[in-house]
Amino acid sequence: MATIDMLLHGFTVASDQGSFAFCGISLIRGTKNIVVDAAHVGRRELIRAKLAERDLTPADIDYVFLTHAHWDHSQNVDMFPNAKILLHPKEREYVKNPRESDWATPLWTSAMLERQPIQEVREGDEVDDGVTVIEIPGHSRGTQGLLLRQGDRVAAACGDALPNAWAAGHGLPRIVFWDVEEAKASIRKLLDRATAFYPGHDRPFEWQDGRARYLEPTSMRIFGWPDVGEGEGPGGMVFDVGQPRETQIVGSGRGD
Ligand SMILES: [Zn+2]
Repeated sequence: MATIDMLLHGFTVASDQGSFAFCGISLIRGTKNIVVDAAHVGRRELIRAKLAERDLTPADIDYVFLTHAHWDHSQNVDMFPNAKILLHPKEREYVKNPRESDWATPLWTSAMLERQPIQEVREGDEVDDGVTVIEIPGHSRGTQGLLLRQGDRVAAACGDALPNAWAAGHGLPRIVFWDVEEAKASIRKLLDRATAFYPGHDRPFEWQDGRARYLEPTSMRIFGWPDVGEGEGPGGMVFDVGQPRETQIVGSGRGD
């Protein structure tokens, strides 16, 4: 039976100086080794370290399953020399000509991906024993996830269709780039089909009776070498931890 664990947690952490965009990376181990999402290059050496903790190297990975092609989920596709990239055909097609408003899909995305061996996958495809593809579009054109059947438990690696527990409670992801109605339907589909979630920008959680139960603790330490300034913290850094902002609609409607 395939197992899933998170190599790196995702975070919904923002700043007024740009995006950290740390996406969650899951490892599914069955007859194949599958990495779900590849993150941006700022996490590259961490991925290597987390694989090493599990006696794996990037060369041991058979598939890199991209939930979608946004920059913060896809940039490290080249670090797995023996892996096929599993991508939804609609996402593959979309990135050739992304919407102008879509700041998460730079124009070089397609060129970057097409350097790699791509295998297109669709709803219901079984990529390993008990591990099947689920189509969950809306956040992006061809967002997809993986469902793992583990006895009574069904776990979903779901990327930004369900990026965090907040989105499960609100019925919408944090950001919609493609279509609001599709994004809502995809969250309903996920909550219907799975009970445990390995999300795009959070740590794994179970969803029961409208509440999240996190499966493991998390932490992030922010450090650096700031000037000693006169602000409210070191070098003027201010920590402002609050509720997530409302959903940001970057684009919606299939026609625009
Ligand atoms: Zn995204």
